[in-house]
Amino acid sequence: MPSLETRLTSVIRDVPDFPKPGIVFKDITPVLARPDLLQAVTDYYVERYAGKVDAVVGMESRGFIFGTPIALALGAAFVPARKPGKLPYSRISEEYALEYGTARLDMHTDAILPGQRVLIVDDLIATGGTAVATAKLVERLGGTIVAMAFVIELTFLPGRAAVAPHIVDSIVRY
Ligand code: AMP
Repeated sequence: MPSLETRLTSVIRDVPDFPKPGIVFKDITPVLARPDLLQAVTDYYVERYAGKVDAVVGMESRGFIFGTPIALALGAAFVPARKPGKLPYSRISEEYALEYGTARLDMHTDAILPGQRVLIVDDLIATGGTAVATAKLVERLGGTIVAMAFVIELTFLPGRAAVAPHIVDSIVRY
């Protein structure tokens, strides 16, 4: 059987100029249409982090999709890092820079307990801004980041350096 990277690369779809000119969007919806591939991504990270994490943090929205089955299989809590205006309870926020303007992620104040070991999960790391903001939320609540896991890493962008010294784990690299 081909490697997981090859199996994923064969279905991940490049959509040029989305959401704006010059961006090549990596569309992972064909991965979601293949239960064998979603299962294989889940298994890949469950094998690597079994017994090592208490909580999985996923960033809205695609981090929810990949993070939830990983958390469930690890027997870990799933924690959503959400876009503004979504979380109902007491929360903390981190703003981060986008190419134009800023974005913000929120987390409930009781989502991570001090000392908990955390795996951060998203579909893709590009500049690392989203991951850095998420890491700050986790650390403000006293969590310890074990690693950051992505399906896709864009190695022509400085995401890995931006999140250092945190560990970046990825399956497909472009
Ligand atoms: P960044 O904060 O620059 O690392 O961007 C990561 C976030 O933006 C992730 O939640 C990705 O889903 C999304 N993202 C950034 N660039 C792309 C891309 N080329 N294709 C798909 N999603 C992207």
